[in-house]
This record gives sequence, structure tokens and C-alpha cells, in this order.
Amino acid sequence: MIQAQSETVLIKNASHIMTGLAGTAARTNATDILIEDGRITNIGKNLVAQANHVIDAKDCVVYPAWVNTHHHLFQSLLKGEPQGLNQTLTPWLAATPYRFRGSFDANLFRLAVKVGLIELLRSGCATVADHHYLYWPDMPFDGAEILFEEANALGMRFVLCRGGATQTRGLEAELPQALRAEKFDSYMADVERLVKAYHQDTPNASQRIVMAPTTALHSMPSTEIKESARIARELGIYLHTHLSETVDYLDSAKAKFGMTPVQFCAEQDWLGEDVWIAHLVKLLPEEIKLLGDSKTGIAHCPQSNCRLGSGIADIVALEQAGVRISIGVDGAASNEAADMQSEAHAAWLLQRARKGMLATPKYEGGTFEGGAAAATVEDVIRWGTLGGANVLGLTDLGSIEIGKTADIAIYQLDDPRYFGLHDMAIGPVACAGRAHLKNLLINGKTAVEGDQVPNVDLQALSYEVQQAVKTLNKHVAVA
Ligand code: ZN
Repeated sequence: MIQAQSETVLIKNASHIMTGLAGTAARTNATDILIEDGRITNIGKNLVAQANHVIDAKDCVVYPAWVNTHHHLFQSLLKGEPQGLNQTLTPWLAATPYRFRGSFDANLFRLAVKVGLIELLRSGCATVADHHYLYWPDMPFDGAEILFEEANALGMRFVLCRGGATQTRGLEAELPQALRAEKFDSYMADVERLVKAYHQDTPNASQRIVMAPTTALHSMPSTEIKESARIARELGIYLHTHLSETVDYLDSAKAKFGMTPVQFCAEQDWLGEDVWIAHLVKLLPEEIKLLGDSKTGIAHCPQSNCRLGSGIADIVALEQAGVRISIGVDGAASNEAADMQSEAHAAWLLQRARKGMLATPKYEGGTFEGGAAAATVEDVIRWGTLGGANVLGLTDLGSIEIGKTADIAIYQLDDPRYFGLHDMAIGPVACAGRAHLKNLLINGKTAVEGDQVPNVDLQALSYEVQQAVKTLNKHVAVA
């Protein structure tokens, strides 16, 4: 568990501070931030305090730490896997994550988790919601225990979205053990166990549990999916799932239930302020309205949606409708840049490109030239920080404001890619790539310093991962 620190930290002389807030409040003229006992207690200029730790942020840009709202950490050992590399969602699922899932033992899984978390941490991310769906009957290891242990070791905030399925599309008897479904009662019993063991209710919790059947449409019979929502609300936990990542969801929902995927969710009580959904790329206008009216959240995963060729979610329309926006990197088996800076950069560009694709000549009734106003850097920072904290119900973090928990990323923009930038504040999002992370504070405590993660030997980790990838490939070759 991350402990609150009984110490004072003073960030001095920042070149720019982005707050994560909307409108003109997205920026502040302040240069200094005072943190006491893990909380921001003052923001201003020339602050003076008896600090245990002074961080000189000269020439640095300060952001709220990123909040990643959708991931599958086990996939961190499956990047660029050749059989799935040029496949769309359904064949990719079979070629990569499902083909390899049974080959993970506790050690390989732990290694994957570690790699994924460190990659995120080094981009300035403090909070990770992992949609963990490696579950099958008689699982040989407790994934939850490993996930929380690794996140705690790095000082990160961790939300475990307990995935899984009680039905599969294949014939149960013909499936390998790792693709078999759980029984509903044992799935729900495990959720209850996890809530008792890990779940914290506080608005800056370090550990949360979420009810998260892998996909609301396919993972359970409709009676069970509805029951899972009831149980989640009885336990006081949030709900998360995949939906409408590709057009296949529209076809399946129509064939199985004679309705749209979002309408299906509405009828199973799977919309609301305590629900956030990954992807939502392919939506009909009436579905956007249902999502907005219910104030459901989205984990926007633009890079994975591009990598799988699924499309670009209409975040602008969703936000206008009332949907709460956040950003997730999704699993690294469909996103070879599973860090929050890359994801934010993609989100910024893709909303503009999406709108630009809709531009038509005036002689055909066109009214605009392109989509450059679709998303500002400030919008994307807000989605990836405060937006993420809000969809996770972690309302005490995500922005740089007095009273908030001090999860803060300090980027030193000393790479030539930033030279010549007229507005350094936008650098960490606009210029692409990972910036030098001078400091990352989580609960006011140092999680990264001088671009280094304490007690992590990246060279040794790299060697270990190379061996692990070989082992995984040997497993699937003989399976
Ligand atoms: Zn996903």
C-alpha cells in the first residue's frame, strides 16, 4: 500500500504548469507547488516553506500524472507478435492473446506486468486500471496478487478490473483449458474475495476492484450480465467492459438480441456514472445519446484502435453528448507504444484527422476546411488525467489544484525535438515520444527521479524479457 508521506515537498521555478482542468483554468501562471503530507497545499510564485525536499523545476513542464483507464498488462510480452500483426480484432484475438494466454505461468505473468507498469511509469503515469481477463477454471496462479504486488513495489495506484467469461463462442469440450469459461458463481465469489482483500473506498485509493466481464455482449448470458451489475452495485464497486470496438459488435448484437450493443447494455443495467467502457469506436447516433444521457464513461484507446484498423472513436461527439472521457493504452499486443504520452499524442492528432476526413468541398455543401479545432492539447491532458480519475471514481486526484492528492509529473524538455517550440507547455503531448521525466510524484512521494525508476535495472529486465519471449514462443509451438 502507498503510505501518505509526512513530509513537505516544494516544486520551484517550473517553466509551465498544466492543471488538467478545462478552459482557461487549464493553465496557471504559477511556478511553484507546495505539497504537504501527500497533498497540494499551495500553488503560486516564490513560495517559501520548510521543505524536506525541494525540486528545482527550472526549464521543466509540470502536468498532473496520467491516469490510464484501460490496459491488459499480460500482453506486454506480446508486442508486435507476427501472426497477429496485420490482423483485425477477431482474427488478432485468436492469433495473439488467445493463442498465448495458456502459456503464462506466474513468473512470465509477473514479468509482463512489471514491463508494462514500468513503461507507463516512465511516461508520467501514476494510476493504472488493468482489465485482467486471464482467468480459467483451476487457474495455476493468482493474477490479482501479482498485479497488486508489482504496482505497490513501484508505488503506483492500481485498479484491478476483474475480467473473465462464463461462456465462450467455441464448444467448451473442444477448447484448451486456458480458453474455458468460469462458472458464474465462482467468478462472483472471486470478485467478492478481491473486494474484501484489496478494495479501498477513499477518493484517492491506492487499490480498487472493478466488475469487468471481458465483453458485456459475449462474455455472459444476458441474465448473468445483469446480475453481475447488481452484485457490483451491492459491493459498491464500479463496472467496466469492452464494447463496440469494431462493426462486428453491431452485427452480433443485431443477430443475437435484435438491438444495438449500447441498447443491450442499457437493458442489462450496464450504463451509468459507475460504468466506463473501452473503445466505443463504432456507434450509432442513438447509442451516443444513451451513453451521454446515462453519463457513462469511455476509455478511449486510439493507438490500439488504429493498430487493429478498427477506426477512430468520435470523442468530440461523445463529450458533447455528456459521456465522460478518459484515455487508456489498451494491451501492448495491439499497441507497441503502450505509454500515456504516446497515447495522448495520438488522441490529439486523431480527433483532428477524424474531423478532417468529414470535410467536403463547398460545391458539395461543405462548411469547413479541416478538423484542427477538434481537440486541443489541453483537452487531451484533461481526458488523460482528471477525466481518467473521474471515470475511476478517484475524485481526489487527476488535477493540479489546492487540496488534491499530489500525483505530479515533471518533464524536462531537453531533447532537440523540443528546441524551437514556441510554447513549451504543449511539448509532452504535441512533440510525440517520451520526455525526460525529471520527477514523478505519487501521493507526494518520489516514484521516478532523474528519469530513473529506483531499484529497477532496465538492462537486466531487457535480458529477462528476451528469454521470456523465447519461452512463450516455445510453449505455443508445442501446444
Ligand atoms: Zn482491451
